[in-house]
Amino acid sequence: MKLGVHASRAGGLKNAPQRARENYDAETFQLFTKSQRRWKAKPIQDNEVNAYHEAMEEHGYDENDAFVHGAYLINIASPDDEQVDKSIEALIDELERASKINALGVCFHPGSHKKSGEEDGIHRVTEGIQRVLDQAPDDVLLMIENTPGAGTQVGYTFKHLATWLDAFPPDRVALTLDTCHLFVAGHDLRPPAYEETMERLETHLDPARVKAWHLNDARYPFESNKDGHAPIGEGHLGLDAFEPLLNDDRWQGLPSSLETSPDVYETDLKRLREIRTLDA
Ligand SMILES: [Zn+2]
Ligand SMILES: [Zn+2]
Repeated sequence: MKLGVHASRAGGLKNAPQRARENYDAETFQLFTKSQRRWKAKPIQDNEVNAYHEAMEEHGYDENDAFVHGAYLINIASPDDEQVDKSIEALIDELERASKINALGVCFHPGSHKKSGEEDGIHRVTEGIQRVLDQAPDDVLLMIENTPGAGTQVGYTFKHLATWLDAFPPDRVALTLDTCHLFVAGHDLRPPAYEETMERLETHLDPARVKAWHLNDARYPFESNKDGHAPIGEGHLGLDAFEPLLNDDRWQGLPSSLETSPDVYETDLKRLREIRTLDA
């Protein structure tokens, strides 16, 4: 697995690859292409796209080393039609933006059913994804992120994720797995449980559908269903939990991103590099 950071785009998209390389010597990175707290943003201008491509080349990144995280407001599992419509529009916009910069894909949280029931929420996500794919560019992946299972969130079991993956082709829909979310949702990654968890994953879905990882330690305990990212080695997962993951050839070559905060990325990366023995 390649080790990456979430890189700020402050001052222009081109600054994300520059920061990822110069500040952390990251091998990959995740970015927002617009404010993650807003539905809409101005389209990306051609000169910004060009500057970004130049920066990618200058800092030694392949275009696919970058992946996008979509807006936090998106909820296609919602029973509220208006919210679903807005979310679908927002996701299409995210994919269009990501396509412009040739990013690997866009991660998004499948959302919450808000007491309309899990089955209904799961079904709405399938319908929503279909509507997005019908209208979005097809050269960029829609990447479903596993959730912690907080409140009425869907997408915290391998079964939920498999339901969506099975409904769509692998060149359009993929997965981003978050270590913290997996763990708090009851999928243990600490040795010796790691291999058993991955075998369970494989009974539901093809691991080749996983196209990126979020590497976060967990601030809250196993099965707590509570989201909270801790620096690597300082949470309930612990550094040991990352060793089998980083050295698993199922994930070889995949991009990843840390999602704590920029002030701890350097230490996080150092710890992870020390335990990675497999080629990135
Ligand atoms: Zn996320
Ligand atoms: Zn999280």
